[in-house]
Amino acid sequence: MAERTLVMKFGGTSVGSPEALRGMAEIVGRNLKKWPRSAVVVSAMGGVTDLLLAGTAAAIRGDTDLVKHAVRDISKRHMDAIRAGGLDPETGEAIEGFIRELKNLYHAVTILREASPRAMDAIASLGERMSIQIVAGYLNQAGVRAFPLEASSFLLTDSKFQNASPIMLEIPARAKPVFAPIFARGEVPVVTGFIGATSEGVITTLGRGGSDFSAAIVGVAIRADEVWIYTDVDGVMTADPRTVPDARSLPSLSYREISEMAFYGAKVVHPKTIRPCIERGIPLWIKNTFHPDHPGTVILANGQTTSDVIKAVTAIRNQTLITVKGGGMLGIPGIAARTFAVVARMSVSVTMITQASSEQSICLSVPSSSGKAVQAGLEEEFRREIDREDIDAIEALENCVIVTVVGEGMRKTHGVSGRIFSALGATSVNVISIAQGSSECSISMVVGKDDEIPAVRAIHALIVSKENVL
Ligand code: ASP
Ligand code: MG
Repeated sequence: MAERTLVMKFGGTSVGSPEALRGMAEIVGRNLKKWPRSAVVVSAMGGVTDLLLAGTAAAIRGDTDLVKHAVRDISKRHMDAIRAGGLDPETGEAIEGFIRELKNLYHAVTILREASPRAMDAIASLGERMSIQIVAGYLNQAGVRAFPLEASSFLLTDSKFQNASPIMLEIPARAKPVFAPIFARGEVPVVTGFIGATSEGVITTLGRGGSDFSAAIVGVAIRADEVWIYTDVDGVMTADPRTVPDARSLPSLSYREISEMAFYGAKVVHPKTIRPCIERGIPLWIKNTFHPDHPGTVILANGQTTSDVIKAVTAIRNQTLITVKGGGMLGIPGIAARTFAVVARMSVSVTMITQASSEQSICLSVPSSSGKAVQAGLEEEFRREIDREDIDAIEALENCVIVTVVGEGMRKTHGVSGRIFSALGATSVNVISIAQGSSECSISMVVGKDDEIPAVRAIHALIVSKENVL
């Protein structure tokens, strides 16, 4: 049997300072004992991508002072890490080379006063291209033989600069000859997150926050057995610990559960980014760099992963609930289609929809920042129906919060919604509107701003109660 392979990904905070880098190197060293064949994927040092892009914006404006500041800050972040870690002079030389490249790119942008998406990617990619040098340096220092590897050598993408998509079908074949010699030498490849290249070899990026995506792609590319994403929390929590002090970390979640949670406001990995692993049945773990002994959360392809009925509760704040209603809507076709066409034309994303079966109202929740505009747009669209009194009014209720309960177990259990609404009733929470996902994996409700915390806490009490078992 082929040797088992692990991919570990460290984000910007986990490689952002000399202390974090030492911690990272220790974790990799420890994991290598069990997983001698491992690859590491890293982000730019925390804040560096933002600095690179801020410098570009300054160059476009011709603000040469700010450009110089950005170059100095970026250079200092890396040079300080090199000094603090006592790394080889070659690492310093490599960084100096990238800084020269950065200065040249900024100079070109300053002259042109514009940066194409392709130029933006050339600049943004430098953060990861530098961080692999630093990370490999710290690993070598800790006795781990590491090899910095730019993903542009195998991670083929389309040419949609700044938000490129990987060409998954071709990547494993390209990765094999790149990784095989590194593994054969007993070294750990340290791969740039966030970046890839077109078939012409031009550097692309996968979009902001793209290094989780890179980790999943590398996992598939080298046929890894597991992918571990290190962040700064103990995996995925049952609720936001700032709202619920006794929130706890979840041992496991299904892909559908994590997708619903991400959509409904939880700060977890973006579902799109982990899809490559899920599709190929590669378990993906979310772990804490600052608490490496904690097991974290594993995300699995399907179904019931524990005996809990409900797993988590999330909240999205700052919503406006828009209602189109009127006795004359009954049976008029196309009201819903026109409503959503208006919202789509405004490029507003709708967070939740409900329609009463009486067909006398359609409710949709939108981010508060677009509430007024959506209301005005709908009033214009339905002017005639409003004049004829088929539609009474377009109402907008501000300061709403969507609270969502997530769990695959709800599909198989009766009475879950009964339990949820009894608990909310008992705490005097007023539920304004309710929607159930068609997957039956989530129930969402709209409550007023002041009811958010009591609602989330009441539902969380159900999650930790003894009755929450299948
Ligand atoms: N460095 C990139 C960013 O800040 C990618 C990442 O960190 O995931 O967006
Ligand atoms: Mg990140």
